Amino acid sequence: MDLKLDPSRDDLPLMANTSHMLVRHYVLDLDVDFESHIIEGTIVLFFEDGKQVKKQTSSTKETCQLESSEACKLRTPEPCHIPVTNVRTLSSKMGYNDFAICDKGEKDTSDKDGNHDNLEQASGLCSSQYCCDTGDHGREGFLLVLDCCDLSVSKVEEVDVAAVPGIEKFTRSPKLSVISEELRNEVVGELVTLPADRWREQLDYYARCSQAPGCGELFFDTDTWSLQIRKTGALTASEFPHAIRIWYKTKPEGRSVSWTSDQSGRPCVYTVGSPINNRALFPCQEPPVAMSTWQATVRAAASFVVLMSGENSAKPAQLREGGSSWHYYVTMPMPASTFTIAVGCWTEIKSEMDLVTEWPFPSSEANFRCAGVCGHTEYPCRFQDASATAQEVIPHRVFAPVCLRDVCQETLVPLIPPCLSAAHSVLGTHPFSRLDILIVPANFPSLGMASPHIIFLSQSTLTGMNHLCGTRLCHEIAHAWFGLAIGAQDWTEEWLSEGFATHLEDVFWTKAQQLTPHEAQEQQELRACLRWRRLQDELRSSPEEMQVLRPSKEKTGQVSDSGASVVKHGLNPEKIFMQVHYLKGYFLLRFLAKRLGNETYFSFLRKFVHMFHGQLILSQDFLQMLLESTPEEKRLELSVENIFQDWLESSGMPKPLQSERQAESECGLARQVSAEVTKWIRVNRRPRKRRRRQENEVFEKLLPDQLVLLLEHLLEQKTLNPQTLQSLQKTYHLQEQDAEVRHRWCELVVKHRHSRAYGHVERFLQEDQAMGVYLYGELMVSEDARQQQLARRCFELARAQMDGPSAEVVAQMLF
Ligand SMILES: [Zn+2]
Repeated sequence: MDLKLDPSRDDLPLMANTSHMLVRHYVLDLDVDFESHIIEGTIVLFFEDGKQVKKQTSSTKETCQLESSEACKLRTPEPCHIPVTNVRTLSSKMGYNDFAICDKGEKDTSDKDGNHDNLEQASGLCSSQYCCDTGDHGREGFLLVLDCCDLSVSKVEEVDVAAVPGIEKFTRSPKLSVISEELRNEVVGELVTLPADRWREQLDYYARCSQAPGCGELFFDTDTWSLQIRKTGALTASEFPHAIRIWYKTKPEGRSVSWTSDQSGRPCVYTVGSPINNRALFPCQEPPVAMSTWQATVRAAASFVVLMSGENSAKPAQLREGGSSWHYYVTMPMPASTFTIAVGCWTEIKSEMDLVTEWPFPSSEANFRCAGVCGHTEYPCRFQDASATAQEVIPHRVFAPVCLRDVCQETLVPLIPPCLSAAHSVLGTHPFSRLDILIVPANFPSLGMASPHIIFLSQSTLTGMNHLCGTRLCHEIAHAWFGLAIGAQDWTEEWLSEGFATHLEDVFWTKAQQLTPHEAQEQQELRACLRWRRLQDELRSSPEEMQVLRPSKEKTGQVSDSGASVVKHGLNPEKIFMQVHYLKGYFLLRFLAKRLGNETYFSFLRKFVHMFHGQLILSQDFLQMLLESTPEEKRLELSVENIFQDWLESSGMPKPLQSERQAESECGLARQVSAEVTKWIRVNRRPRKRRRRQENEVFEKLLPDQLVLLLEHLLEQKTLNPQTLQSLQKTYHLQEQDAEVRHRWCELVVKHRHSRAYGHVERFLQEDQAMGVYLYGELMVSEDARQQQLARRCFELARAQMDGPSAEVVAQMLF
C-alpha cells in the first residue's frame, strides 16, 4: 500500500479547551428530516469549570485507599489529559475497514480566515481575531472552544436555569431574588455534582433546565474544526455561563452520519464511526477526558425507529402533529465520541424461543464481586449492584430491515444469549444494562461497531454458518469492557481496545460454542495462525512509523495547556485499513496469558476491570498492575520496560513472535489443512487426461477458519487450472460459506482469472461492501480488460449507496 504521511492532512485536531471547562451533560433535541438530509434542533451543554473540577478531584482522591497509587492518579478527572479514543471508530476498523476520508481541501486547523459559513445566519458577532488557545486571562475574555465541523450554527445563548421552578434547592439562597451569573453557575455546579443515588432527579432537572428560556445571546464564530463562544465581560471560565444552548443544523455532506437506504430500499441515517467522530452531528468536547452523560429527544416520521446509545429501551411517543418522538438517556459518563444514533424503518426481530433464563456456564460470583468502592467519578454503577452483577444475559433487542428478518432469526438471534453469557463468565458484570443490535445498511464500512448500549453488525456476518457472526458478535460484546467501560486515554494506543477485543473474541466464542478445553485450544491456535499470516503481510506493506502501538512513548497522553491536541494520523485515509493494532495487541495479550497461565491471567483481568471501569487508561496502567499482581516465579524476566520495547514501541514483528511461524505445524487443525493443500496441489498437477481421477481424492470436511487457511495457502500457488478451481468450489460449496471464506475465494478467482465464477465476485462486491475494497484493487491491478470492466460495473451499481468518501477511494482505484 502506498502510504504517504502528511501531518497537515492526516492529523486530526482536537480543539476543545477542556482544561478550562468540562462538559458534564448534553441535552439534545432534534428533528430528523429525510427529505433534506438534515438533522436540526438544539443542544444544551452543562459545564463544570476548572475550579469545580479541582474540588471534585480532591474529594475523589480520598476514596482510593484500596488501589495502587497508579489507580489514584487515573481516577482523578484531570482536565489536561489527552483525547482519545473513539471506540466506535476504532472498532469499526476491524478487518475490512472504514474508508471514510477527510476532505483533502481542509488543511490548516488554525486558519481563522477560513470558512465562516454560518456568517449569514449568525446573530452573534463573527469575529476572526480569537485565538484558540486563549486561556482564562486573554484580553478578549474567556473563549470556549468546542469541536465542531460541518455544522450550521445559527444561535448560541445562555440558558436561564434560575427560571426553572423548584431550582432554588440547588442554591444556598432560599429565594432567588437577585439572579446573577454567579447564581446560575452555582445552580449548574450543584446539579452536575449531585450524588449518584439522585440520578433520576438530576436527569429530570437537566431536562427542565434545557427548556428554560434564554437569557442573552453569546458571540460565536466557527472555523473548519471548531465553534468558539465568548461572552462580553466574562474574563474567566468561572464567569462564563455554565449552561448554554446552541441552535444548529447538520449538513447533508457532514461526515459524522451517513444518509442512505437499507437493504429493503427504505431511507435511513446512522453514525458511521467516522474519523471525525460526532463533531458533524453536534458541537461537543471530543477529548475523552470530557466524560459526560447525555439525553436526547429525537423526532422523525412515524414509520421510523430511532435507536441510540441510551440505557432505556425507548418506545416511541406519538406526536399530535404526526410523527413520533424517542427519548434516550445514559447515567454513566462517557466520551461524546461514543454516542451513536441510527434512524430507519427497521423491524424488531424477536426471539422465537423467548427468554432463556439459564445458560450453562458456572459463574463463580465470588470472583466478580470485588469488595470496595469503584474508582470512577460517581454514577449509578452496575458493579455495585448485586442483582446487576449476577446478570449473565442482559436484556437485548435486534433490529434489521424486514428482508433480513429470517436470516437474523436463524443466525443472529440464537447467538446473543450464549455470547453474552460467555462474556459474563469470563469478565463478570456487564458494564451496560441493555443492548440493541442493528443490522446496518450494506454501505457500512466494517463488519461491526460497538457503542454504549448498541452494536452495529454488517449483513456480511449473516451469511454462511454462524461462525463469522458469532466471532464478530463476541468481538463487539468485548468492547463493552475494553473500549467503552475502560477507554484508552491516548487515541494512538488503540491496541488497548482492539487488541483486547480481538483476544477476548476467541475466548468468548469458544465458550459460547461449549467446546471441550482441547477443542477450544485447537480453534484458538488456528486463529492465531491466521492472524500471524495477516500481521506478517501487513508489516511488509505498511510504513514502519505506523506499525508502532505506543508511538508517543513517554509523552503519551500529553496535551497543550488548553487541553487541545492533535491525534497523529487520525485522518490518514489508509490508516483505517490497517490492522496492526488489533493484531499486535492480540498477540501481546495472548503471549501474557500463555506466560502467566490462563487462570492467573483471567482472574487478574477481572480485578483489572473492577478497578478501572468507568475510567481512561494508558498502556502502563495495565502492564504495571499486571506485573505487580503476578507472582515472581511467573513474571520471570518480564518488565514494563521490556514489554514496551519488544511489543509496543518497535515496528516490525515483535521479537517473541518471530518463532510463531512454526505454530502451524503444532496446531492439529492447521496440520489438517496442510494435508488438504497437498491433495489439491496433487490434483492440480495431474495431466489433463488423467484429471478425471481427481474425483477419487477424498477431502476432509473443514471448519470455516480452516477453509480460510486452505484458500490462503492455495493463493500462494502460481497456477491453479480452471478444473481445480471448479472442483474446489464444488467440494466446499464456497459460495455458500461466510464472507471471510468467500473473500478468499474471490481473490483466487481474480488471481487465476477464473471467469466461470465472476458472478461470485460480482455478488461479493454488492453484498459485502465492507470487505470489497481490496478486491476492487486486485481487479484493477490484473490489467485484464474483463476484470476491470467487472470492477467498474459493480462500482456503478454500488456507488449510489456508498457514502461520498468511500466512493471517492474506490473511484481513485478505478479511474
Ligand atoms: Zn463502578
